[in-house]
Amino acid sequence: MVKKVLKFGGTSVGTIERIQHVANIIKKEHQSGNKLIVVVSAMAGKTNELIKLANDISEEFDSRELDVLLTSGEQVTCALLSGALIKLNVKAKSWLNWQIPILTDGDHTNSRIINMHVETINKYLDEKGIAIIPGFQGISKNGDVTSIGRGGSDATAVATAKLFSADFCEIYTDVDGVFSTDPNKIPVAKKIEKISYDEMLELSSLGAKVMQPSAVQTAMMYDIPLEVRSTFTDRKGTKIFSQENIDYSKSVTGVAYSRDDSKITIIGVADKPGIAANIFEPLSKAQINVDMVIQNISSDHKTTDITFTVKRDDVSKTKQILKTNSKINYKQIVQNEKVAKVSIVGAGMVSTPGVTYKMFRALSDELINILAISTSEIKLSVLIDEENTLKAVKKLHTIFDLD
Ligand code: ASP
Ligand code: MG
Repeated sequence: MVKKVLKFGGTSVGTIERIQHVANIIKKEHQSGNKLIVVVSAMAGKTNELIKLANDISEEFDSRELDVLLTSGEQVTCALLSGALIKLNVKAKSWLNWQIPILTDGDHTNSRIINMHVETINKYLDEKGIAIIPGFQGISKNGDVTSIGRGGSDATAVATAKLFSADFCEIYTDVDGVFSTDPNKIPVAKKIEKISYDEMLELSSLGAKVMQPSAVQTAMMYDIPLEVRSTFTDRKGTKIFSQENIDYSKSVTGVAYSRDDSKITIIGVADKPGIAANIFEPLSKAQINVDMVIQNISSDHKTTDITFTVKRDDVSKTKQILKTNSKINYKQIVQNEKVAKVSIVGAGMVSTPGVTYKMFRALSDELINILAISTSEIKLSVLIDEENTLKAVKKLHTIFDLD
């Protein structure tokens, strides 16, 4: 017998039929003798609908009241799912944030879970009941209803697994798992059977939006084994755990790409100590995340060009800050928004020599020019012209044996 947390996302509980289907999945798990805590999201689209209602009253709708409003979505799903299980003659019961309680810290709409009371629910599990609890919501020290940020049900599931000492946390969603690249665009993409937390974090921060990255981070911190799988098929999903449990036959696990970066070049800045710091300090103070940086060699030893990337949404703010920065002089600022970042990710890269060279050679064979490069221990990213994105991803997917 194992103790499991099962989390069902919005699309998995998006209609009454789907809720009934989910109840059947849970019933089967329960019949195989497992202790189950089920975490649910609001029905697909519900949270957006509620936000719209609030905005119809005011664009600055009171955040305490917004939390009361938004958390109602998860309340609905808890009751419907619990009712569906009871209809199937399964012992089940729902609890809301304040009944458990799920204690949170921090501001309204952006709180974080710090503790949960476990005794009552544990006793119920011992009595062979299934506990249905809401994702995304909590209660503050003052007794106010709180929420933990959009997509927060993943974080609730992982926190629940940790606080209840569950053996596994399974994330049921509308895709089969984590893929070696975007299966919608590259049909040869394969489902990854096992992946480490670090790789998953790199892939999700690079655009593979299967699970909330902060929830993966928490799972990594407490070593909680995760599985992402589909609600709509019986196929095995992707297991996510710590690196020691994975044996790497391949140097690269996945190829990711994103099209939300922009390249900014400052032409003709002085080539002397302190300039880079003067450029980037105000950007970091403004919470602008600078990703790739390259500085050209200065041919005249007096001036140089510095190129870097930021998220497209941050471009105008970045330019504004550069223009009002009195500590730097330059000739010109140019920007290019038609760029894409393509990355290879793999914990196996650490022990395989030549991965970098192989990537660059493959891109040059396709006549793709590299505009910037950045690396971490398990990731290698290049910036290229946006029009070459899929060509590059396909090529890399093939040469690193992922097709
Ligand atoms: N219902 C919330 C949202 O849509 C939480 C979640 O689904 O994870 O953001
Ligand atoms: Mg969600």
